[in-house]
Amino acid sequence: MRSPLPPDLETPAAETMSRALEDRPTRIRVDLDALSHNLDRIRRHVGVPVMGIVKANGYGHGLLRTALHLQAQGIEQLGVAFVEEGVALRRAGITVPILVLGGIFGDQVTQFLAHDLEITVSSVDKLGQVEATAAAMGRPATVHLKIDTGMERIGVHSYSAGPFIEAAVASRWCRIKGVYSHLACADDPDSPMTTLQLERFLDACRHFERLGAPMPIRHIANSGGVLHFRDTWLDMVRPGILMYGVRPDVTALATVDVRPAMSLLSKVIYFKVVKAGNPVSYGATWAPEYDTRVVTIPIGYGDGYPRALSSRGEVLVRGRRFPIVGRVCMDQLMVDIGGYSAWNEDEAVLVGTQGAERISMEALAARAGMIPYELLVGLTDRIPRTYVGGRSRS
Ligand SMILES: *Cc1c(COP(=O)(O)O)cnc(C)c1O
Repeated sequence: MRSPLPPDLETPAAETMSRALEDRPTRIRVDLDALSHNLDRIRRHVGVPVMGIVKANGYGHGLLRTALHLQAQGIEQLGVAFVEEGVALRRAGITVPILVLGGIFGDQVTQFLAHDLEITVSSVDKLGQVEATAAAMGRPATVHLKIDTGMERIGVHSYSAGPFIEAAVASRWCRIKGVYSHLACADDPDSPMTTLQLERFLDACRHFERLGAPMPIRHIANSGGVLHFRDTWLDMVRPGILMYGVRPDVTALATVDVRPAMSLLSKVIYFKVVKAGNPVSYGATWAPEYDTRVVTIPIGYGDGYPRALSSRGEVLVRGRRFPIVGRVCMDQLMVDIGGYSAWNEDEAVLVGTQGAERISMEALAARAGMIPYELLVGLTDRIPRTYVGGRSRS
């Protein structure tokens, strides 16, 4: 939508808004040292190069800062979902190889080539499209061939991979850097699906040998694969959520020692006594049995804090764990601190550690009936991200 304001009026307004947001008591704190630690632990665990997945705003941690930090740690490769994310990374000065995992829409191939982004080729048709555009631009395309081994999302079925790989090998303008697939059930260490997918994938890769073509980089392991299935590590791994220190599921095994990079923090902004029987928040769904102390925290579902946590979530204040009471509002929520005291400006931890208490992303997501991925990427831009650790502080 076009703004009705001329640009000279629009820009200062936007700046004032973002400065105002910086002052919000609610913030996401990203510990860049945790990110380095996790990358290091994953590397040692798998012993092969890592493609760090930074799609969806770096799983909520901030696309550019996360990618710049990973690049500074010498990460071999980055992965994003869409070409737009790849272009944003290039504009921010990211020089490491970037694979776009999603499909190609319309005539985006020119954008891939112009910004030196690696392309996922997921059908013989798309291969032809990439080949034609690369030839017209006189620029070779770097591609990864996508094989579908059981996800049924994008990619050529492993049982039809022969002609696909043959066409790719024969192409003049496509340089085949990788061949890959995606695991559907790797979060579950007991699922037989992963072994089946791996077998299908390795069968498909044999076509390179059959054709006498060099074997490209084979990659299939997401975070679940890294955690649970050694055989899937192959030539490169593609962890997303695990790199941020969050396990894909509460039931995932902690085979790699990672630390959560994100904390979700706010402050107490209001304190009151609620008298017995007086309901709190929209819908009057909760009321105390006795007079109690209730504080207000300025975060809500408008920030991506799930409304499903109404009377279910918990918040840490002064090193103690207290329940959210009544409905989570768009911008605020209420917490029952019982007989304890709290002061305006006291730190409130929604995800993270305070004293001896901790609220994990995995546990909070489970409580909300969500997966940790959903919770992470749902945290909106209205929450300012601050970064600690790394080389500089800001
Ligand atoms: C998102 C994604 C990943 C990373 O998944 P995690 O479960 O976060 O590790 C890896 N590969 C592909 C193709 C993806 O889309």
